[in-house]
Formats: sequence, structure tokens, C-alpha cells
Amino acid sequence: MTKHHAPLVVGNWKMNPVSLAEVKTIVTSLKAASKKVNQVQIVIAPPTLYLMEVKKMLGTSSIGLAAQNVNQSPMGAQTGEHSIPMLAGAGVVTVIVGHSERRALGETDEMVGAKVAALIKSKLTPIICIGERDRDAQGNFFMLIEAQIKAALMNVPKARFKDIVIAYEPIWAIGTGKTATAEDVNEMRLFIQKILTKHFDRASAGKIRIIYGGSVSAQNATDLFTSGGVDGFLVGGASLRPQEFSHIIHSIK
Ligand code: PEP
Repeated sequence: MTKHHAPLVVGNWKMNPVSLAEVKTIVTSLKAASKKVNQVQIVIAPPTLYLMEVKKMLGTSSIGLAAQNVNQSPMGAQTGEHSIPMLAGAGVVTVIVGHSERRALGETDEMVGAKVAALIKSKLTPIICIGERDRDAQGNFFMLIEAQIKAALMNVPKARFKDIVIAYEPIWAIGTGKTATAEDVNEMRLFIQKILTKHFDRASAGKIRIIYGGSVSAQNATDLFTSGGVDGFLVGGASLRPQEFSHIIHSIK
């Protein structure tokens, strides 16, 4: 874990919930739960349509606001997209980039790299999602991870690595209930650090936070955090259940 930051827990709400009333229920419970923890950085990523309302609901809470995606152009003819100035104006400080569900819709490594560079330029924090669809016995999936990391960081100055978060999210573990073991997570965390050191340098590599995502739950959070050695979690399904989400937060504080 990096020495520079508190552990980070990010809730990715995906395309949920379906009403603003439900948003309010989740945010209210989360605000209450977060008052009891100040050693963990909590961030939630609601659907774009709810961002401004959630910002208002959060008020003076220390919970941060994230977007689930961004377009790297500041404005223009990009139907259905949202730019960095728009998200920043809504109170967003962190943006999830390259989630596997967006890569499945056609987002390439190059697009991820362009988004990360634009976010860093605008002083927002990208959470770069990487991860393999399947694991092969020969370990060839490590090459894919290396390519994803290289492409994502190609245009980021090393001095800004402290503002980068890498979320290792094996696709086979997302929303499936099949969590990677703490040993798998620790092995991948070490591999990511090795790759960062190889392509950049050890000191810069050490500044990047590495978190894990993929069926994190109240049951497995402590083990994944302590034995996996990660800096926190990206949580999907469980982040919509405030009690479970706060249990995850409490289990790593
Ligand atoms: C995610 O969508 O980033 C994720 C990790 O989902 P889940 O926790 O539901 O597997």
C-alpha cells in the first residue's frame, strides 16, 4: 500500500438505482455511516444524470463524487457524451476510466490513454480499470495487463503518478460472486508494480494506488485488503446496499 494516501473505497453504482428517491435513501445512509470513519477515503460514482443532485445531497460530507466515464474533448459534436469541464462543474473529482463494461462497448486502450491524459491535465483523478477476461494456465493474461497499463499511462508525466489509481478488476470476478483470492490479488498487485517500475521507475511506480474490484463483499473485504495488500476497493453491486458498503469501509479502516 502507498504511504501517501488513506485507503480508498469507491462505489460504482453503474446504471442504478432507477429513481431519485432511492438515490436519496442510499446517500443518506452512507453519509451517516461515513461520519464514523475518517481514515478511509470514500467515493461514489452515481449515473451522470444524478451527479448534481448527489452533490447537493452530500453537502459538507467528506464523501467524494466520481463519474463512471468521460469524453476527453472539452465540448462539441459528441452526442450523448459528457466532457471534463461539465463533470468538474457538477462537483466530480474522480473519474472511472476503461471499466470493462465500457471496453465491451468498444472503448480501446488508446481511448483510455487519451481520457487519462485529459483528466490529469485537468487535475482530476482517473481510476483506470484493467483486468483479464479469463486466466490461462500459462499466465499469458499478464501480457494483456502490461499492455493495458502502458497504453493508459503513455501520456501522463511521472510527477502526476500520485494522482493515478489503477483498479485491477478481473472481468470474470465482476458481478459474478467469484472473487479473486487474496493470493491472486497480491500476485497481480506485485506484477503491476513490477511493470510500472520497468516502464517508469521505482519511486514513481510506488506513488500509484492499486485497488481491487470484483465481487467485493462484507465477507471477503478484510482478507482481500490485508492479504491482498491493495490500497482499497472498487465496489459495484455491494455499493448499492449501504449497510454492506459501510461494512466494507469499516473492515479496512
Ligand atoms: C465493478 O463494476 O466495478 C465491480 C467491481 O462490480 P461488482 O463489485 O459487482 O463485482
